[in-house]
Amino acid sequence: MRYYLDLFGCAKNQVDAETLMLCLDRLGWTRAESPETAEAIIVHSCGFIETAKQESINAVLEHRAAYPDKKLVLAGCLSQRYPRELAESLPEADVIFGNRDFLKLAEAISSSVPGFKDPSEFVGKRPLLSMPGSAYVKISEGCDNRCTFCAIPRIRGRLVCREVDDIVQECWELLDRGLWELCLIGQDLASYRAGSAGLPELLEALSRLPGRFWVRLLYLHPDNIPLGLLEGLQKDSRFLPYFDLPFQHASARILRAMNRRGNAEAYLVLLDRIRTALPDAVIRSTFLLGFPGETDADFQILLDFQAEAHLDWMGCFTYSREEQTPAYRMKPPVPKPIAERRRNIIEERQTPLSEKQAERFIGRTLDALVEEKIAEGLYLGRLFCHAPEVDGSAVIRAAGPIRIGSAVPVEVSGRSGFDLEAFVKV
Ligand code: SF4
Repeated sequence: MRYYLDLFGCAKNQVDAETLMLCLDRLGWTRAESPETAEAIIVHSCGFIETAKQESINAVLEHRAAYPDKKLVLAGCLSQRYPRELAESLPEADVIFGNRDFLKLAEAISSSVPGFKDPSEFVGKRPLLSMPGSAYVKISEGCDNRCTFCAIPRIRGRLVCREVDDIVQECWELLDRGLWELCLIGQDLASYRAGSAGLPELLEALSRLPGRFWVRLLYLHPDNIPLGLLEGLQKDSRFLPYFDLPFQHASARILRAMNRRGNAEAYLVLLDRIRTALPDAVIRSTFLLGFPGETDADFQILLDFQAEAHLDWMGCFTYSREEQTPAYRMKPPVPKPIAERRRNIIEERQTPLSEKQAERFIGRTLDALVEEKIAEGLYLGRLFCHAPEVDGSAVIRAAGPIRIGSAVPVEVSGRSGFDLEAFVKV
């Protein structure tokens, strides 16, 4: 059987899709590059917010219209969140299963396919959908934070953390496959085994792996940063000083309503601590605009925070009213046009800030992970300041060929918009 995978959503969903692909491999299925050449189409959906849900449903409808006779499977977060509703209202999908059902599928396959007995085989050897040279490593599943706007704990359940040894084993296997970058992911890495040594202990164990590579931490809840994390990152230069801290807001009132504990002052102190410990620190954050009750004064607090925080990268979302979340009933709602206007303002202000931040790398020699050849002697890649898919890139000139997925030392020579220009050092 040949299947085509249509993937939506975040890196966590991507890892689930990769694990599903490994299961299908073991069942003898092969992946098709296009839906035309497949017998089955799998829409691996996202169920986080309204626009994402709509996108996944549209994909099912479009595939069904284009391929009336093919098997159409809806998998992933959306179907985990609304299994009954979708079974009733989306007859276009032949099979519907969620990401937790899929784990049962993985278990069933591991015990039924000869030579595939250990469920841990699912981790390191899965096919990868990441950019060349990079892989996501999921260190936990679910979340206990209960931010009031977020449906993730309902979709992915309570926080469950993988064992340190299990993660180290997966990382070792991925490095053995020649990868350069390991991006640790989870809904909130900062909560990893909170109460025990947690993330610092994991870093300690990872630092015993030999060779040159990057470890990048993605998604650290700023209220939960564990003691010892900065020291752990300082000890090993292979751990990138890259901080993905989704502040969501800076107004204490709005953060409280979101069930988050921070405020602008505390977050500025945190940024100062990070930059003192790791002067090269690159900070990415996301903000949520138009949360119920957000006033012009709250928005001004956020703008003032943005001006002082000197973020390298920023993502912005407008509030999506999600059923089964506490914020669903919160009042007063912020009209969509106001939320959009606030988002536009904050995005416009961020552009020169991000461009200016990028300039501090000009003149430096850094490793670049090469992702794509765009012309003879011209490549696209990423430096430590660029997380996959969300930040800018480096445009790299090279006198000779470079292997895609490998890391090379480059000198950063300039900036073009958000992107950096660099050339390979010989
Ligand atoms: S930390 Fe908050 S926003 Fe993030 S997944 Fe958990 S509940 Fe959702």
